[in-house]
Amino acid sequence: TTFDGLGVEKTLAQHLTNHLNFAKPTKIQRSVLPRLLLRERDLFIQSQTGSGKTLAFVLPIFQKLMEITDLNRTTGLFAVILTPTRELASQIHSVLETLTRCCHRIVPGIVIGGEKKKAEKARLRKGVNILVATPGRLADHIENTETLNLSQVRYLVLDEGDRLMELGFEETILKILTKISNESNILATTKLFPNLPKKRVNVLCSATIKSDV
Ligand code: AMP
Repeated sequence: TTFDGLGVEKTLAQHLTNHLNFAKPTKIQRSVLPRLLLRERDLFIQSQTGSGKTLAFVLPIFQKLMEITDLNRTTGLFAVILTPTRELASQIHSVLETLTRCCHRIVPGIVIGGEKKKAEKARLRKGVNILVATPGRLADHIENTETLNLSQVRYLVLDEGDRLMELGFEETILKILTKISNESNILATTKLFPNLPKKRVNVLCSATIKSDV
């Protein structure tokens, strides 16, 4: 099986093999990629770190955004990825950065609170299309709707759900989910972005399936 064969767009697939040396998709990628590329359904991914799950949920989001012809940073925030730690957020963000070589118009962003809030705020104001965040810091920012418009979010990924729970992020995540749901105005722009999901797609990754997760 190749990335191409799973529905990954040619330039992206070539980028993976030629520049990242990913000759073929991992097991989890073979299972997740067609589902997220073809269906607009919520997905639970049970997998460990090291399985290649990041690329499995990031590639489809990226590909959908590549299909928007006049996309730029101000077009909208279409995906939010929540992770338990700053390190993990940085890793996912750098995967997104490498993929932007295939499409310069897509702007990923990160809010993890390591740096001054003011700088983060400024970057959010300029606009991002995919945002990677730790829950606490994102919750801080969403108090201010001028900084962050969540009305267009089509993909919400909760990465390492079990660790998010262990670290006590439940309440904060619920707050973020409520905010995203309340602000959602996807229907209003469905005509503008016909290739994007018509309702929000939620993806949950976790190594274990415990009841709280
Ligand atoms: P993850 O489970 O997403 O943290 O990925 C674990 C590691 O696998 C990362 O260093 C990726 O760069 C690498 N990786 C992801 N997909 C592939 C692939 N198809 N072939 C080889 N390595 C991969």
